Amino acid sequence: MVSSEQRMPIAERFVSINGEGLRAGQLSAFIRFAGCSLACSYCDTAWARDPFAGSEQLSVEELVDWAFSRPVRNITLTGGEPLEQPLLPQLVERLVACPERALAIEIETNGACDISALAALRQQLHDRVDGQSSVGFTLDWKMPSSGMADAMLPSNIEALRRWPSAADSLKLVCGTEEDLLFAMDLLDEAGPLPCAVLLSPVAGALDPAAIAAFMAEHAAHSETLRGARLQLQLHKILWPGQEKGV
Ligand code: SF4
Repeated sequence: MVSSEQRMPIAERFVSINGEGLRAGQLSAFIRFAGCSLACSYCDTAWARDPFAGSEQLSVEELVDWAFSRPVRNITLTGGEPLEQPLLPQLVERLVACPERALAIEIETNGACDISALAALRQQLHDRVDGQSSVGFTLDWKMPSSGMADAMLPSNIEALRRWPSAADSLKLVCGTEEDLLFAMDLLDEAGPLPCAVLLSPVAGALDPAAIAAFMAEHAAHSETLRGARLQLQLHKILWPGQEKGV
């Protein structure tokens, strides 16, 4: 019998096209955890912020069985906020050890939770399983228009440097011109990063073309901006207005 402390609140789980991140366009098995302590102004999964939004309480083994039985190469752990789940390291450890195929496990995290312990763990796991599966962070660094910029932990950027992986990305979601300037300053201050940098518009708030124009305008004096990548949320293009299952 698995006790309630050994279960995780799941808002939803499904297979769909990965709408963003380094694996955008590929199929992934999504596990969306219920609960997030932030309150971003543009949150598109606000219903999943409630820790009791979970329609299911599942054990690590139940989640692993479900993930391993999906015909995909990618697993996306999202929310809500996955790092608010105490059992997340156990889940990652089990997923990495998939006996049948290498999996790319992506952890989408909001920048306010300390990733260092998990980043160190994935390094150990990578060594232990001969590097077949990968664990990557998509670190969603909040901009001023989110209202959550003050909650970001600078140590998370250091963690990406200390335990680097080609599977990592720093995601900067911009809703205003001020956000774009803030993102550029952040990148310039951070200096060279060992991960991809993704610039993404807040849907309906900032024209993606404005980001492209900003990148072209400032590339001459921002080395890090030159290496950044504009990214659109594919799922919002494919299924506009749909909040769940995508
Ligand atoms: S971190 Fe993500 S889930 Fe949490 S409020 Fe912000 S957008 Fe929503």
